[in-house]
Amino acid sequence: MASERNERPVDLHIHTTASDGSLSPLDLPCEVRRSGLAAFSITDHDTIAGVQELLDAGLPSDLSFITGLEISATPPENIRISEELHILGYGIDVKDKKLNLLMEELRTARMERNPKMVARLQSMGLDISLEEVAEKAGGKVVGRPHMAQVLVDKKIVPDSQTAFQRYLGKGCPAYVDKYRVPWKEAIQTIDEAGGLAVLAHPGMIPQMQDHHALERLLLTLKEGGLRGVEVYYTQHKAGFVKNLEKIAEKLGLLMTGGSDFHGTFKEDIRLGTGHGNLFVPFFLYEKLLEALKKG
Ligand code: AMP
Ligand code: ZN
Ligand code: FE
Ligand code: FE
Repeated sequence: MASERNERPVDLHIHTTASDGSLSPLDLPCEVRRSGLAAFSITDHDTIAGVQELLDAGLPSDLSFITGLEISATPPENIRISEELHILGYGIDVKDKKLNLLMEELRTARMERNPKMVARLQSMGLDISLEEVAEKAGGKVVGRPHMAQVLVDKKIVPDSQTAFQRYLGKGCPAYVDKYRVPWKEAIQTIDEAGGLAVLAHPGMIPQMQDHHALERLLLTLKEGGLRGVEVYYTQHKAGFVKNLEKIAEKLGLLMTGGSDFHGTFKEDIRLGTGHGNLFVPFFLYEKLLEALKKG
């Protein structure tokens, strides 16, 4: 019931079969309902095809939804970060031309990277083909989790974590760098598509465990148009969340949260609750909507 909606949690970070999740966009609402959530977003890597599919099919009236995506971006030049930044975009217009062009560019880059990685796996004597990986992916966005799953299915590795540790992780023999969008361009494109740019899971960045480093990063990104930060996240520890809440408040950034659900591609993460303790309150979703209305 709509009146009870604000008492239930939300999940604003979910992957579907359109990228490297195992649940299809049309099967998602049912799972969202079963998980007792009131609102959700689909935040696939490099694509809004899943969002589009759900919008075309029609949104269920008992659940609230906000459009989303997750872009891999380069960190600011003056900040030392070894990995990429993930930037979420909420409330984007899925028909926006520039955003769609950027997604296309990212998918093209993947199509150049994937054969290189598969060739490296093959050269190590592993029995894997690009066709098998593409079939595992189903959708247009093919990535490392799909390669990992093929290796698991063929019993070449016991689990996907091992596949990343031995072959696919950064610095491993089959790893090939992925094209990343310059951070300012990622934020600007989301903004121009009518959306709110939000830094995803800063707790996953090794160099950002320190309060001051984190504040400096967020301030820099804010100056480039960042509007929020993902505070509540499956792998964020309580102390880190407290710090992040303080920084977000100080900088006037919106706070969001989500599980980063990938279905069977990340079996230990549950929709809404993550590892069990995640609770993202409904009012954070409402605040996003308010900010979108204000523009
Ligand atoms: P890609 O975009 O193809 O580079 O793949 C990125 C995906 O791989 C993301 O969903 C990550 O969460 C996942 N991933 C990256 N590193 C690991 C790891 N060490 N173990 C499991 N999954 C990982
Ligand atoms: Zn993913
Ligand atoms: Fe991410
Ligand atoms: Fe994600």
